[in-house]
Amino acid sequence: MEEQKQKEEKSLNFLEEIIEEDLKSGRYVSIVTRFPPEPNGYLHIGHASSICLNFGLTLKYPGYTNLRFDDTNPVTEDTEYVESIKDDIHWLGFSWKNEFYASDYFDTLYGFAVKLIHKGLAYVDDSTSEEMAALKGTHTVPGEKSVYRSRSVKENLELFAGMKNGEFDDGSKTLRAKIDMAHTNMLMRDPILYRIKHAHHHRTGDKWCIYPMYDFAHGQSDSIENVTHSICTLEFVPHRELYDWLIEKLEIYPSRQYEFARRNINYTVTSKRKLLQLVTEGFVTGWDDPRMPTITGLRRRGYTPDSIRDFCDRIGVAKRENMVDVGLLEFCAREHLNKVAQRRMVVFDPVKVVITNYKIPAIGSDLSGGEILKVENNPEDPLGGHREISFSNEILIEGDDFMEVPSKKYFRLAPGQMVRLKSAYIIKCDEVIKDAAGKVVELHCSYFPESHSGNDVSGIKVKGTLHWVNAKDAIEIEVREYDRLFKVEDAASEEGDFKDYINADSLKIVKAFAEPAILSASLADRFQFLRKGYYCLDKDSKDGKFIFNRTVTLKDGWKA
Ligand code: ATP
Ligand code: MG
Repeated sequence: MEEQKQKEEKSLNFLEEIIEEDLKSGRYVSIVTRFPPEPNGYLHIGHASSICLNFGLTLKYPGYTNLRFDDTNPVTEDTEYVESIKDDIHWLGFSWKNEFYASDYFDTLYGFAVKLIHKGLAYVDDSTSEEMAALKGTHTVPGEKSVYRSRSVKENLELFAGMKNGEFDDGSKTLRAKIDMAHTNMLMRDPILYRIKHAHHHRTGDKWCIYPMYDFAHGQSDSIENVTHSICTLEFVPHRELYDWLIEKLEIYPSRQYEFARRNINYTVTSKRKLLQLVTEGFVTGWDDPRMPTITGLRRRGYTPDSIRDFCDRIGVAKRENMVDVGLLEFCAREHLNKVAQRRMVVFDPVKVVITNYKIPAIGSDLSGGEILKVENNPEDPLGGHREISFSNEILIEGDDFMEVPSKKYFRLAPGQMVRLKSAYIIKCDEVIKDAAGKVVELHCSYFPESHSGNDVSGIKVKGTLHWVNAKDAIEIEVREYDRLFKVEDAASEEGDFKDYINADSLKIVKAFAEPAILSASLADRFQFLRKGYYCLDKDSKDGKFIFNRTVTLKDGWKA
């Protein structure tokens, strides 16, 4: 994987090739890109790839990136989304040069429309949407001209002003570009530029009752901002012709559009509209539910910005749509968390071990009742520091780290068998205590005082090392274990409603016992629970109740 990554890093992606060529030819001395979200939902992992691409290019080449809110649809947009988008981009580690809003250009865009009317290149159409659809033609049949197409410039100017001034009802008129009703590109058959919508806008309030369509706002906003490379996803390929036509006719800055493939990952959905349904219909607890593929969900789940950027780098830029395996995202999380996560010992399904020959040192009121061990926080990080954990004659180990009748290759605890307790001593299982029903309730073991970790002079060799906690000071915590949100790879393309494919068992809540160092955990901390996985504190923790999210297991244990 590492090798392949290096190989990929050496070759340029197609956008980098274009930009290097543009810089070499002197077409530009620096470049301008933009990230243009519509503030109608929270950003998801697909957006992260667009963010990494747009901001990444201007980190690599001279120039800058703008953040532009594409807020031309008053009905679905909200300032809550604006704030969350800004927060997510910053969290990912990027900064924009300017924060712009397409709605700030409404006056300019109106002027552009008037200019087109003056040039005889736009007209007001009274057709209903059904009538327009009927005249649009098909891919093989040319469309027909609307009867309103021949209106004079003067009449069009008056009617368009009337539209703006609120003289007409929603849907009763539109402004259309006058291009070619027989064009092979259906989007060039007199596309709608403006529609009437008497709706409150989150920034412009009630000033406007006409709103520009996507195609008449996007490219124009790019031009207004002197964007050199306007990068969007493949579904906009057919729009490029209109994008160029409008720029040419309006004689404005010649921004250029380039398309790359949308990034979708399996076992989830990446569409704000669908994610919104999951939120409003209560399938998840919110946009930041740790099962959501949103940036805010991934963040709460314990993903780091570094791991998400690494993921976006590795999947790179493609020209063909494909589904990326969520396993790669998890791989990237493990790679980074292994470097930064503090190690803690946590036992999930405990069985008690009594160390019968352990002489409790007399250390007064120490609740732990034993000695204090100094343990490295992170063997991967020389600056990771140490923590203290206590040892006593009563400890807890995982139930499945003991087997009464072990198989041949079982190197964990079994009657007569020895194991090392991580960072402490080697113990040997002498006796198994059961209740009346035959269930193992306690293991009586002896320990070897000369086998202290780091100073082992016992000469005993063992193959198994177990994590453990001191039964006398362990802290009970809640752990939320997450699974795929959907049972199928691509719920959106399955028959019926995508929500029929939701995995009902995507959340499992368990309790566990942690070493007391866990008490100082903060939301920003990342942990590896030894032999288990990576975890982080959840914001629901309160009043002394510690709740942890499992980010990923230690190894890829999931199989389709
Ligand atoms: P959604 O369908 O989730 O609403 P969108 O494309 O409508 O997505 P926008 O807010 O318009 O969302 O997107 C902002 C930018 O992010 C656009 O340039 C868009 O092309 C890009 N983008 C959105 N989804 C993806 C994705 N899955 N992969 C790559 N880029 C994406
Ligand atoms: Mg959109």
